[in-house]
Amino acid sequence: MRVRTLAAVLLTGALALTACGKEGSPTDQGAPAGLFEVAKDVKVDGSPTFEKAKARGNLVIGVKEDQPGLGYKDPTTNKYSGFDIDIARLVSAKLGFDPEKIQFKTIQSAAREQALINGDVDYYVGTYTINAGRKEKVGFAGPYFVAGQDLLVKKDNTDITGPETLKGKKVCSVTGSTPIKQIREKGYTEPENILEFQGYSQCVTKLLNGEADAVTTDDAILKGYAAAEEGKLKVVGKTFSKEPYGIGLPKEDKALRDKVNDILQGALDDGTWQKIYDGTLGKSGSKAQKPTIDRY
Ligand code: GLU
Repeated sequence: MRVRTLAAVLLTGALALTACGKEGSPTDQGAPAGLFEVAKDVKVDGSPTFEKAKARGNLVIGVKEDQPGLGYKDPTTNKYSGFDIDIARLVSAKLGFDPEKIQFKTIQSAAREQALINGDVDYYVGTYTINAGRKEKVGFAGPYFVAGQDLLVKKDNTDITGPETLKGKKVCSVTGSTPIKQIREKGYTEPENILEFQGYSQCVTKLLNGEADAVTTDDAILKGYAAAEEGKLKVVGKTFSKEPYGIGLPKEDKALRDKVNDILQGALDDGTWQKIYDGTLGKSGSKAQKPTIDRY
């Protein structure tokens, strides 16, 4: 009897360990306890996504994991942090889900629309620009932030000062992103000089080892890499687009879109948005520019 009990305890322990260690198990890796008050008895009438998540008992949130300051997963602790991550956590708390009921799922830029269409994630928070083309496939709450396309170069670089100085330079960006589209369409550099990867961290590696002359994407993302690489890189600082960040949702779920817009508006009004900004992106010293929610 005692042996069987012990075996049962060990087995349960082993299962628990496997569950914790499993990629994407439902726990919010890294949320400080009580970060946001969890709402009670939340109803989102007419939202299939919310109903599905409630029935499942957890929320699956699509994020980035290689963008320091925005959406970052620490490779040693597996903890998530950043502005997008905290916005995702805030929304989940206001939808009535405890932090440990969040399952973050890394989805790269090129795979976001399909992940939402397939229902692989309930919502997506990861430097996701709201635009007309994407709105044909998915819904957007927000914007909760407005970034702008910029350039990241080596600290000692003096000849790249803006998009019009990129001719003949190797420019790296990410598949399925708005910055790579703009570089191509405006012809800022020759097609053969455009390097394309799934994630911006791969571009940063190419910049550091000299295979790329510049990385282009949103200034908010680039500032995070510049800070992480301590003195090796710099952001040019002349933005040449507007990138309003939205929370991606299944297209038809207007009930959830309205609810998330209410949550964001509340956070902008009661100081929560500012607190999130100050604890993440604001650490680099950039001033916060509060966005205006655009309901449709
Ligand atoms: N905000 C841009 C976009 O949504 C660039 C950043 C990203 O790839 O996530 O395409």
